[in-house]
Amino acid sequence: MSSSVITRFAPSPTGFLHIGGGRTALFNWAYAKKTQGKMLLRIEDTDRERSTPEAVSAILDGLTWLGLDWDGEAVSQYGRASRHREVAEILLARGLAYRCYCTPEELRQMREKAEMEKRPVRYDGAWRDRDPAQAPQGVKPTIRFKAPQDGETVIEDRVMGRVVFQNKDLDDLIILRSDGNPTYNLSVVVDDHDMGVTHVIRGVDHLTNAARQTQIYKAMGWSVPDMAHIPLIHGPDGAKLSKRHGALGVEAYRAMGYLPEAMRNYLARLGWSHGDDEIFSTEQMIEWFDLDGIGKSPSRFDFVKLENLNGHYMRHTDDEQLVRALLAFLPHVAGGPEMLARIDAPMRAKLKRAMPGLKERAKTLIDLMKSSQFLFAQRPLALDDKARQIIADGGVAALEALLPVLSQADWNAHSLEAAVKAHAEATGAKLGKLAQPLRAVLTGTNTSPGIFDVLDVLGRDESLSRIEDGLKLS
Ligand code: GLU
Repeated sequence: MSSSVITRFAPSPTGFLHIGGGRTALFNWAYAKKTQGKMLLRIEDTDRERSTPEAVSAILDGLTWLGLDWDGEAVSQYGRASRHREVAEILLARGLAYRCYCTPEELRQMREKAEMEKRPVRYDGAWRDRDPAQAPQGVKPTIRFKAPQDGETVIEDRVMGRVVFQNKDLDDLIILRSDGNPTYNLSVVVDDHDMGVTHVIRGVDHLTNAARQTQIYKAMGWSVPDMAHIPLIHGPDGAKLSKRHGALGVEAYRAMGYLPEAMRNYLARLGWSHGDDEIFSTEQMIEWFDLDGIGKSPSRFDFVKLENLNGHYMRHTDDEQLVRALLAFLPHVAGGPEMLARIDAPMRAKLKRAMPGLKERAKTLIDLMKSSQFLFAQRPLALDDKARQIIADGGVAALEALLPVLSQADWNAHSLEAAVKAHAEATGAKLGKLAQPLRAVLTGTNTSPGIFDVLDVLGRDESLSRIEDGLKLS
């Protein structure tokens, strides 16, 4: 039996968990769940200026909101720097790395020369074979990896296929800076090795790093994990994802009112597919997930598709669960805390009763928040322009006629509907001409769930009082 799978998500805490990072985490998570393996979390916090505790907690919050968990404690890469230094020393002792005493000035000249000759900037190996006894005074050396100069480094990538790098194109990388700090490629290899990572799943922007890392693994005699480099996410126009087109932090999606389960479904389909299936539960995704299902070309982020998918999830979410989702959402959105403050137990019950009608029309929790506002509005209601127009265009007469009809009916959607229909038949009035003025005074707008459900949920006293308020507008 093969050993169990260990994946990892290794974000750099740059202030938030961006959407591409969310997808990478999801793929690592799904693959670990699918194989009954583990997903580890490593915070690549070596950039001390940007890696604040706030940035780290933004990432943890983003993952938690998305519903992605990890095994064990999050590992701090910075906290492992002495181990990275140790490995650099091992490479040095084995002759697989060397001290480089180039001054910043010499490196600048090397760069300028390459630029003038229009060739890629590469370290020229000045100290690779030079006797350290010639080291200049007062220059603190860096440690460079002695990269193979001939031949090829091959990555059998689980997504990109066989990727071949010519070793002559990969120069001697700095693994330890002159201040003793390890560099990214060394740290990643040492951490992935020590953490027992078997599968590295990450963005394709790390493909060249994968070649450099492979060389370091080999130099240490360590086995190279399986690699799967996922294509980038583009905007709907095929260009690099811009902020306008979705290059945002996960918390921005939360604030836009998307449900985490819809987000997981949507992110899964950004780059991964299972036949023509578009809508699937997270359990189903885990069952189907495989690295073979990840495509080689960039996917396109499409807000319209996300919104429609979210609407589907809203319609299919149980009423009680949706009430909870809305209440949990309100603290994170403008106007939400004020609304939350008005939702006491009876209001909450009303909200739940109105939910079947409300969720039919809502694509996001923002929509739900807006469309449920009429439940919590305080009398006399402020009518929007369209509602006012309806009242002005003969609405008052309709309401005057309806008031006694409604007052005498049993207060439930069914009886109210029967009473209004009977009234319409007896007077020859069109049902729409009765429903619209009612909607205007009961909700303050011209769109709402079915009007008999609105009457039912608001209750007799509140409904009749709102109608009377409306009559006073004339
Ligand atoms: N910290 C890197 C990033 O956020 C990822 C490194 C890796 O996955 O190997 O892009």
